[in-house]
Amino acid sequence: MIQLYIPLNFLGVIYREIKQSLTDLDKMFVLMDKEREVADAPGAPALAGLDAPTVRFDDVHFAYDPARPILQGLSFEIPAGKTVAVVGPSGSGKSTLARLLYRFYDIQQGAIRIAGQDIRSVTQASLRRAIGIVPQDTVLFNDTVAYNIAYGRTDATQAEIEAAARAARIHDFIAGTPKGYATMVGERGLKLSGGEKQRVAIARTLLKNPPILIFDEATSALDSANERAIQAELQSAAQGKTTLLIAHRLSTVVDAHEILVMEAGRIIERGTHAALLAQGGRYASMWALQQSDPSA
Ligand code: ATP
Repeated sequence: MIQLYIPLNFLGVIYREIKQSLTDLDKMFVLMDKEREVADAPGAPALAGLDAPTVRFDDVHFAYDPARPILQGLSFEIPAGKTVAVVGPSGSGKSTLARLLYRFYDIQQGAIRIAGQDIRSVTQASLRRAIGIVPQDTVLFNDTVAYNIAYGRTDATQAEIEAAARAARIHDFIAGTPKGYATMVGERGLKLSGGEKQRVAIARTLLKNPPILIFDEATSALDSANERAIQAELQSAAQGKTTLLIAHRLSTVVDAHEILVMEAGRIIERGTHAALLAQGGRYASMWALQQSDPSA
């Protein structure tokens, strides 16, 4: 009993940490079947209509702990192929939106729909195939660069892996290492910088080519050249995909179809960049602050 309990408990801790950072979930779900907090409805079909899906949050209420409501009646739509950006102070609930769309947790009231289907009514496997996540902090496997890029698409050819790496502008870096795509990375291999890891995550997502994207922008400061480059890569990856962008720097959100400004689990302002600036409210003052202090 004790022997069983300790490793399961240990895995549980890892699982929760990983869930928090939105990474490598499919693998952990397989390992941690018992830890699932959501389940497929009996006879649930696969998610359909994925050519150009619309994502809708309808009056979503959610709490991790019943005593502490986090989201309190949130509604918005990401039209097919468009980007909706979410900004707001730390703890306002931005990453929670991403976790709910990927169905790490079920909501308590309201509905989240993709192409008109409640995500609770379809299989989790089909839901997760349809969504690509570029998390804040990418955790790499202790394996080769090629494995890390192809993760989730085991049938990918070397040419496809390289094409994705080129698009994410990490190919030259990889090609410059002695073993190229066979270079081991991760804790016991080549250590990659935050920007390089994020590029590997972008390459992985490009290769998976899902119709829906979630970008959880890194909070850690990249140097400004790296930041501009990552932004350009994110924009090209998001082209034509239905995208939820959780942003920490307002420069990333300027072109979004709609920007949601969150505070304490509610949307306090919404609109395009220009409309929000003209409104002269919270977003406009956040923008003014970041213009005067780019690290803010
Ligand atoms: P940041 O910009 O710092 O990433 P955020 O806006 O993304 O913040 P969330 O991570 O969505 O914020 O967190 C919203 C609230 O939910 C916070 O008050 C946080 O403490 C709480 N929270 C997040 N994860 C959990 C969890 N697993 N269990 C309980 N509470 C949580």
